[in-house]
Formats: sequence, structure tokens, C-alpha cells
Amino acid sequence: MSLVLDDVTLTYPDGDGRLTALDSACLDVPAGTLTAVVGPSGSGKSSLLAVAATLVTPDRGRVVVDGTDTGRLDRAGKAALRRERIGIVFQQPNLLPSLTAAEQLQVMAHLSGSRDRGAARAMALLDAVGLAEQAGRRPHQLSGGQRQRVNIARALMNDPAVLLVDEPTSALDHERGAAVLDLLVALTRERATATVLVTHDRAHLGRVDRTVTVRDGRLSPPARG
Ligand code: ADP
Ligand code: MG
Repeated sequence: MSLVLDDVTLTYPDGDGRLTALDSACLDVPAGTLTAVVGPSGSGKSSLLAVAATLVTPDRGRVVVDGTDTGRLDRAGKAALRRERIGIVFQQPNLLPSLTAAEQLQVMAHLSGSRDRGAARAMALLDAVGLAEQAGRRPHQLSGGQRQRVNIARALMNDPAVLLVDEPTSALDHERGAAVLDLLVALTRERATATVLVTHDRAHLGRVDRTVTVRDGRLSPPARG
């Protein structure tokens, strides 16, 4: 029940050469812990999440999600792993304008074929993120902070082993940002997720288990469980 990146290198085509987005990155995130990843823009933070999410295949190295070496999976196997074991929270909530908060979550249950459990689970998760009262509201009736909470609750619908979060507080003020960070730490403990949080907001990092800095695709300190 963890996330392991072992000596992961990722390059992108760049003119005549290649740009190194991740350079021999090692990361070990045990279940129930939250690792923050900080670094300047363009340093490789989102690339790290994309590799961990199996959305991008590295040139070299291993990505192990919840005990599964993702390098052994084909495209369909990776899609199934994402659906069943990985929760992803992107920077923008990307909520569907016509759906209520509860329905945003239930869509996820439909996608994974467990329709019957969707409604009760959606309500339990909205309660866990402090939005039980807002379950019937549509995105335009929610604040920015509330939309980000729906986004987080939605990522937990499949009971993921690994939770990957990209800059969730960037659009929030200090107080709301701190509240979202507290929520992520609490959910990580309660649900025993291996959580990676990308942020360039160093303000709230006292709350996390570990902070790793990325610079030009290199992690320091090279984080090992
Ligand atoms: P961060 O999230 O820290 O801002 P990224 O991981 O998005 O950094 O980007 C790391 C480097 O990889 C940057 O130089 C960026 O321009 C480059 N890059 C990211 N995605 C792509 C892509 N799809 N194709 C080519 N280069 C990319
Ligand atoms: Mg980024």
C-alpha cells in the first residue's frame, strides 16, 4: 500500500535533442503519509505526478503503485489501475456545470461499474470533506474552496491507495489553503492513502510528513521511506 518511484528518468523531445523532465528520481511514499513536492515552475513537479499516475511512461526506472510494477501493465491494465487504485486531483476542479456535488462523485461510481454503492458513498465522502449540506448544489452555487473539496472527495470515490494532488491551494486564500491542507492530511491518515501533493505554496508545509524539492528534474533529498 504505497507509491514507489525507483530511479525514474523522463525526457521529452525538444528540438533536435531531449529535455530531461525527471532525472533519476527516487521517491517512496508509505501508506497513510503525505509527501509535499515543491520546486520552481518547470522543475518537473507535474511530470512526477503524471508518471506516478501512469499517464506518462518514463524512459527508465520503475513506478510501483500499491505493489504493482506499472511497467508490466499494458495500456488497458494502466487504465484499470488508475480507475481502481489511483485518485487524481488536478489544479482545476473540472466539475461538470449541470451536476450537483453528489452527482459529480456518483459519476465516478458509474465509470467503475459500482452504481449501487455510489449514492451512499458520495454522501459519506461529501460529509468527510465538510460538504454534507452542499450535496445538492451545482458548481456555480459553491465557493472556490468548496469546489476544490468536491474535487478531492471525487478523487476518493474509488478508495484509492495512491492520491496525487497538483497545486490544490493555488486559487485559494491563505486560510482556505490551510484548511484544504489540513483536510488532505486528515484524509491521508483516515484512508491510509500514499499521498503526493505538489505545491509552490510553502506556507502550510509544517503539516505534512515530508517535503521534497525538485529542481531541473532532480529530487532532493532523494526521499526514501
Ligand atoms: P512543473 O509542474 O514543475 O511546472 P513540468 O513537469 O510541467 O514542471 O515540466 C517540466 C519540464 O518539462 C518543463 O521544462 C516543461 O516545459 C517540460 N514539459 C512538460 N510537459 C511536456 C510535454 N508534454 N512535452 C514537452 N515538454 C514538456
Ligand atoms: Mg505543474
